[in-house]
Amino acid sequence: MASLTTYTDEARIALDTLADRATSFISPSLRIGVTGLSRAGKTVFITALVHNLLHGGRLPLFQAQASGRISRAYLEHQPDDAVPRFQYEDHIAALVNDRIWPASTRAISELRLTVEFESASAWNRLLSRGKLSFDIVDYPGEWLLDLPLLAKDFGTFSREALDMARLPVRSELSADWQALTSGIDPAEPGDEMTARKLFEAFSSYLRACRADHRALSTLPPGRFLMPGDLEGSPALTFAPLLVDPGSRPAPGSMHAMMERRYEAYKNHVIRPFFREHIARLDRQIVLIDAMQAMNAGSEAVGDLERSLTEILSCFRPGRGNLLTGLFSHRIDRILIAATKADHIHHESHDRLQAIVRRLADRAIARADFSGANVDVLAMAAVRATREGSVRQGKETLPVIIGTPLKGEKIAGDIFDGETETAIFPGDLPEKPGLIFQSKTSQTGPDSAVDEQLRFVRFRPPSLERTAEGLKLSLPHIRLDRALQFLVGDHLA
Ligand code: GDP
Repeated sequence: MASLTTYTDEARIALDTLADRATSFISPSLRIGVTGLSRAGKTVFITALVHNLLHGGRLPLFQAQASGRISRAYLEHQPDDAVPRFQYEDHIAALVNDRIWPASTRAISELRLTVEFESASAWNRLLSRGKLSFDIVDYPGEWLLDLPLLAKDFGTFSREALDMARLPVRSELSADWQALTSGIDPAEPGDEMTARKLFEAFSSYLRACRADHRALSTLPPGRFLMPGDLEGSPALTFAPLLVDPGSRPAPGSMHAMMERRYEAYKNHVIRPFFREHIARLDRQIVLIDAMQAMNAGSEAVGDLERSLTEILSCFRPGRGNLLTGLFSHRIDRILIAATKADHIHHESHDRLQAIVRRLADRAIARADFSGANVDVLAMAAVRATREGSVRQGKETLPVIIGTPLKGEKIAGDIFDGETETAIFPGDLPEKPGLIFQSKTSQTGPDSAVDEQLRFVRFRPPSLERTAEGLKLSLPHIRLDRALQFLVGDHLA
């Protein structure tokens, strides 16, 4: 793993970070990465964060805002012209006006938010101009999972992909692709139509794994699941073949063609992504959908832990990872946040946080991770529910009240997307470890955890108005804690 990037990569990262530093001397900025696997809640998180800062939302635990030291917050042109802008205006209009969830992250995008503030310390007020820009970089977590490919040749990639495909959980999903590959002699002449067919069969197998209710782990190449602007590009039209690690292809063969494209994918897709984007981040938030994983059962929770391990490995500082070891420009704070805590009653929020902490601790240990300050949080970027209680006989049950999305079901009832409903979401177990055990191995009063949980998806909330008719900003749970951890020290 010693040489994940080449010497020129190192030099270029060094130059990039120097350039960043030079510009940041004139106008200080902080680059914040927002990632997580598909549907983890990245788009909703960024939209809610920006909205609450622009509109002076209720953020009691975000000190700079709570103490009235932020005088102005506004959007500015982003520094990187080659990266698409995060479509904040479209997303907030969907959430607030139409009460629908915005379109999810499909590729990288960026947004610059600048705040003018007064430092809390007299000394800092003398020294700094009290202006700081946040460059928020939104990108699919799937792309991070490509980093290990840099250290693997085509033969090794092929062998590993086949070994994974043959495992019992995946063999059915991969059957079509396996049948197609085994009918192809890697030494036969390279042919575009065959390459396309192989690529299509392989990528539909990867997508089937992701869609599977057993929530199978996400396999590389990441762009096969989230192509971004590379859809249809030859750098993507490849697939593993029945070849051995280290074997040399005959010129003009299928093997040579696929190997060349695989190497192009590494050089033109993976390396630039890490060099131009990941190596320049200062702070990172990793969003996870713990709710969905718990809903799907302990296998899915185990799987979430595995992908979190792989994601954290990408940010591991030190000699093993050249990307973060350069010029001491490294990510110094990482927040692992489980969003969508509004699906459970606040009595369970601490339990959710304990489960996320446990998940993160195990992932941190497995990724052999140290150096950055890592915190965990159970939060909801947008709170779609209120809380209440319902009397059932002598018992009073804590419930959450919201409008379930059209088509959601509970016990045979199908919701119409308009009706508000009170739901008893079930309790999370007091002992976080139980979430990680399969149902069959659970005993005692907390057993059969899977059956106690009941989550439905809700519509975004309708915003309350003040007496003057102004719409209040989006409600949330602990979004202010996330902000305080990610940027609070720079506004102190
Ligand atoms: P992305 O793929 O990471 O960009 O995911 P999104 O931000 O698009 O979120 C995916 C879906 O999760 C949304 O369409 C919502 O249904 C749900 N979601 C995300 N964040 C929240 C939240 O804070 N509260 C609730 N109730 N649902 C959320």
